[in-house]
Amino acid sequence: MDDRTFRNAMGKFATGVTVITTELDGEVYGMTANAFMSVSLNPRLVLISIGERAKMLNKIKESGKFAVNILTENQEELSMLFAGQIQEKRNIKFERLEDLPVIKDSLVNICCKVYNQYVEGDHTLFIGEVTNLVLRDGTPLAFYEGKYREIVG
Ligand code: FAD
Repeated sequence: MDDRTFRNAMGKFATGVTVITTELDGEVYGMTANAFMSVSLNPRLVLISIGERAKMLNKIKESGKFAVNILTENQEELSMLFAGQIQEKRNIKFERLEDLPVIKDSLVNICCKVYNQYVEGDHTLFIGEVTNLVLRDGTPLAFYEGKYREIVG
């Protein structure tokens, strides 16, 4: 199997889209990610997976905290921005939850402190202990076969 086949196979798993945010020395960082899952209810744990080349990796290692912002269908442009698919600099206004910057009007903002981390291949898995969250109504942004999708019905 070549890398393309592996990527195509993984792309058959439909997901939502999140932007991971953190703050270090007063500076806010954001990165689009769909490698997110719920792990445990007691304690409340979630997982994100960050590539070794992402600048976000060291930011989370150093800050020891991150927020997961689950995007709505109206936030595709934000996803593109935080994935580097839109290159221009934008002045994004973040809200605050606990001691973290979060994305306004997301479906869910989840604040976490790093509970554990595991380097696996070319990614680092961060387990986050959930310290607070906010939920809103709306329709999620979806991602499938490398494209943003609408959820119909
Ligand atoms: P940068 O390249 O520094 O940041 C990414 C972009 O965000 C830049 O354009 C930057 O200008 C902008 N940005 C950052 N902070 C701010 C700010 N405060 N204000 C305004 N703009 C800001 N990669 C993974 O490792 N794990 C995943 O699970 C994952 N899932 C993905 C899912 C999707 C749907 C997509 C499209 C990409 C995914 N990626 C994932 C890839 C990842 O989003 C990109 O590789 C990203 O560019 C890496 O960001 P970086 O941390 O290197 O930061």
